[in-house]
Amino acid sequence: MAEEVILITGGAGYIGSHVNRMLSAKGYRTLVFDNLERGHREFVRWGLLVEGDLRDAGQVRSLFAEHNIGTVMHFAAYAYVGESMIKPSEYYRNNVAGTVNLLNAMLENGVMHLVFSSSCAVYGHAGAQPIREDHTRRPVNPYGRSKLMAEQMIEDCCRFHGFKAVSLRYFNAAGASCDGIIGEWHDPETHLIPLVLEAACGRGPGVQILGADYPTRDGTCVRDYIHVEDLADAHCRAMDYLDDSSGFSAFNLGNGNGYSVLQVISAVERITGRKIEMEICDRRDGDPACLIGSHDKAREQLGWKPVLSELDSIIETAWKWHLNLDKLVAKTGRNTSQ
Ligand code: UDP
Repeated sequence: MAEEVILITGGAGYIGSHVNRMLSAKGYRTLVFDNLERGHREFVRWGLLVEGDLRDAGQVRSLFAEHNIGTVMHFAAYAYVGESMIKPSEYYRNNVAGTVNLLNAMLENGVMHLVFSSSCAVYGHAGAQPIREDHTRRPVNPYGRSKLMAEQMIEDCCRFHGFKAVSLRYFNAAGASCDGIIGEWHDPETHLIPLVLEAACGRGPGVQILGADYPTRDGTCVRDYIHVEDLADAHCRAMDYLDDSSGFSAFNLGNGNGYSVLQVISAVERITGRKIEMEICDRRDGDPACLIGSHDKAREQLGWKPVLSELDSIIETAWKWHLNLDKLVAKTGRNTSQ
């Protein structure tokens, strides 16, 4: 039988590609399954790439028939909150129905270990902060609901089919690989840090501050930014954790610290040495004032500790990647934003 591989759905995307790289560096064989709709072929520098779509049950079945899959890391999903409110059914088809196809193929092939890419969006409007894993899960948009539904299906597979699964609920994933060769490349881009860096590069029109009247230290929203390589490390630990655990577990992956929009902008100005044009605009629908995660459980049970998630490390690595992205775009002729 062929050597066992780790299946990474969505491994051509932002977080999946960093996890693929880390697993490969640790000597694991990886298999990326990605439709390249939002991922980048350039990011699959490790392991094998199979182009395909989780929404197509036949393709997923063939994937499992053709490869000896031991563990699944499931990232493939749409992940824009705003878009999910415009096209909810697409979110349910991709994020929920795609997960159903994956879980069925796993069951049919006796693949019982899963690490799932979830989000703090499953909590909805947060009460006490920092948010712990036992906080009520009451998402406030279709994206968050699609992630919650996927979690619930996975929990049932653990309860009734003997699966072992870890759900990792990310706060604000940010930063890029320390050598700047992979990073955040969304199209369109809606996230704060890449937009501020685009403005620093002179590509963007300047930064819109989406609300400056929140009940926070400077009136702008506070978020818990977590470095993508710290996230990748948590996935490797979650996979090891499955060996000795049973059932379903969930962990928050956050820094435990919050930074405001203005703090992010001023750190970018300091690190890049460039002045950022900014304008105060209306709030964005559905943005909570503050979102900070407690990572006590991940520290205690996974032995995980963020090491790159100080704001300066996040911005320094993201800046390095952005400068490389400029060269990549010049070479491939592909635009980074629409
Ligand atoms: N934000 C902003 N201007 C932008 C994009 C985002 O002020 O152009 C704010 C947004 O309101 C939020 C924070 O930056 O408070 C982080 O937004 P992002 O979209 O990066 O992540 P989210 O927390 O929404 O997942």
